[in-house]
Amino acid sequence: MFIVDAHEDIAYNALHHDRDVRRSIVEQRAREAAAAHAGADSSGGQTLSHMSDTVMIGLPEHRRGGIGLVCSTIFCMPEEQEAMTTDGWAQMRYYQALAAEPDDAGVRLIGSRADLDALIRDHAAAPSPDKRPVGFLPLMESADPIRDPADLEQWYAAGLRIIGPTWRGSRYCGGTGHPGGFTDIGFALLAEMERLGMILDLSHMADDAVWQALERYGGPIIASHTNSRIYLPTDRHFTDDQIRAATARGVVIGVVLHNGFLVAGWKPEQGPVGLDAVLRHLDHVRELTGDALHSGIGSDFDGGAGSESTPQPFDTVADLAALADGLRAHDYSDDDIAGVMGGNFLRVFGQALP
Ligand SMILES: [Zn+2]
Repeated sequence: MFIVDAHEDIAYNALHHDRDVRRSIVEQRAREAAAAHAGADSSGGQTLSHMSDTVMIGLPEHRRGGIGLVCSTIFCMPEEQEAMTTDGWAQMRYYQALAAEPDDAGVRLIGSRADLDALIRDHAAAPSPDKRPVGFLPLMESADPIRDPADLEQWYAAGLRIIGPTWRGSRYCGGTGHPGGFTDIGFALLAEMERLGMILDLSHMADDAVWQALERYGGPIIASHTNSRIYLPTDRHFTDDQIRAATARGVVIGVVLHNGFLVAGWKPEQGPVGLDAVLRHLDHVRELTGDALHSGIGSDFDGGAGSESTPQPFDTVADLAALADGLRAHDYSDDDIAGVMGGNFLRVFGQALP
């Protein structure tokens, strides 16, 4: 099985929290435990803050767990423009540097359909799991680092293929907790994205922005990490009308594997959440659309929360394959399961990439 995870904040964690994705989970957890014990850590002359949550992502685990493709994000905390642009480019260069390492089982930046086809072929042909290549498809979560839509060509040339214009609101459009549609510069960004053939990510868009995007954007669309509002009454997730309208446009929606985004008002003291909480979101999309062609995985593992806040049995990214067992128990066919685990996103990316 070739698994796709449509949302992992890899570069942000590497550059801001000393989470080098090349390390195994065992190594990284040991480092973080030691750092927590010793207090502040300093590496490379730069002081990096450590996360208190338990890390879930490492390339050895991707390989072992069969995760062949990741939408690797560029994400910046809102701050002044130059700082965000600098940070965004540093994250893009982090991915380029990983991909430039001479390692057959290393990271590959996926920028074209030929890259994607070669990745799938080499992943299947790898002599052992630890020799599997992992594809990174760069996704910008909030277009804040982009100073001006005219800069987009440069970002595209560097490898950026997917943009979600907003997080908690941006210059481009309303976002989570910040209602509003697209601004003039936001519409200019959409026009430039469409001209370049980029993929638009609806996740985090405010309601008005979702509807405008569906009406105005002529290029390919996904929702990298969004659940159903029927179970979570906040603007972070899709209404049924949005799910119907977006999937009619071919959107694939990545289910977010974060307890607070699966069960309304979840708190750690409530204890673990099980696979059933994930499956009800996937079942809901299947019910609304009549098939299983519009769901995928957008785990957002390590996106501000660790394994304490993810459903069981997901302890590391290597455990993602367990979702297939839950799908089987909910009467998804083998084809449906392969689709949700990765094939549905691969279909969109295969059509969208140059
Ligand atoms: Zn997010």
